[in-house]
Amino acid sequence: PPVPLGSGVISLVNRLQDIFSRVGSQTAINLPQVAVVGSQSSGKSSVLEALVGRDFLPRGNEICTRRPLVLQLVRSSEQADEFGEFLHLAGKRFYDFSDIRREIQAETDREAGDNKGVSDRQIRLKIVSPNVLDMTLVDLPGITKVPVGDQPSDIEARIRTMIMSYIKEPSCLILAVTPANSDLANSDALQMAGVADPDGNRTIGVITKLDIMDRGTDARNLLLGKVIPLRLGYVGVVNRSQEDIQMNRSIKDALVAEEKFFRSRPVYSGLADSCGIPQLAKKLNQILAQHIKALLPGLRAHISTNLVTVAKEHQSYGEITESKAGQGVLLLNILSKYCEAFSSLVEGKNKEMSTS
Ligand code: GDP
Ligand code: MG
Repeated sequence: PPVPLGSGVISLVNRLQDIFSRVGSQTAINLPQVAVVGSQSSGKSSVLEALVGRDFLPRGNEICTRRPLVLQLVRSSEQADEFGEFLHLAGKRFYDFSDIRREIQAETDREAGDNKGVSDRQIRLKIVSPNVLDMTLVDLPGITKVPVGDQPSDIEARIRTMIMSYIKEPSCLILAVTPANSDLANSDALQMAGVADPDGNRTIGVITKLDIMDRGTDARNLLLGKVIPLRLGYVGVVNRSQEDIQMNRSIKDALVAEEKFFRSRPVYSGLADSCGIPQLAKKLNQILAQHIKALLPGLRAHISTNLVTVAKEHQSYGEITESKAGQGVLLLNILSKYCEAFSSLVEGKNKEMSTS
């Protein structure tokens, strides 16, 4: 599994998220998550699955992801503890990851039908594992142009609107996925990311399918940002092909093959920072930590404001809102504590990083 760099920093955020959900916070607090965008079959689900290190997402060469899937990854300290749990089946632990995939498919069909229909209703899945980084990932349907099956004639516009509702949030990190065997200038991913994040502060370019580029071409200039510059840069990856999937090739084998791919091609030497799934995980983690740190003061201000509103409400209604106000104070205290802990953690990490 990828290096859990900065995982301590991010686990604080997951704890925060749990606290918010426990007090049933109705305030619009958008904690950072990572969403994938790109055309259908560009490799979005494959990238997410490789980051998680387990096989559990529906993948394939036609439309597979038909509802947004919100994946909360939780790092467990217990070696043996590894399971998934759906919000719509709360309390039921899935220990077999192929059962998780089957449930995603079944739950997709329940809502969006079994004939390629698409729905914007989320599926929420928590994965607890010793082999994941603590973060929230969102797998989204890909952009398609021509309606098939039960899809409405305006399918492209609908999917774009759905994707935009996630990636427009200033707190959302965007993995813009483009296959290396298509023209970067035609990339739906970079086009949409460019609209949602014009300054490029939260977009990472991911180039997939480096293994099936046209003979005589390579992705060196793409990865160096010489074709379309991107502030946070690009990472090139090699995921499993459809044949690998049919032959049940494991992620572990695929990661070994990916490493070998890059090592055996001189054109990618010297580009170690932009090559491979482990590098993508590392990059993501660093950016996420910085990003969260920048958001915390705003979050604190937001809760303070809400607290004043709730206190006023409390004065006018008396007893009724007492528990709400109490929860607000509690939340604010906890958050302040987390802000301090978080800052020192991030600063500690930075020192570590700059001296190494
Ligand atoms: P999504 O629609 O963007 O989620 O794409 P999927 O992850 O479902 O992948 C679509 C198809 O492309 C599948 O058949 C994958 O096996 C294949 N694929 C994805 N990434 C790569 C890659 O890096 N190399 C090769 N050869 N095939 C890939
Ligand atoms: Mg997909």
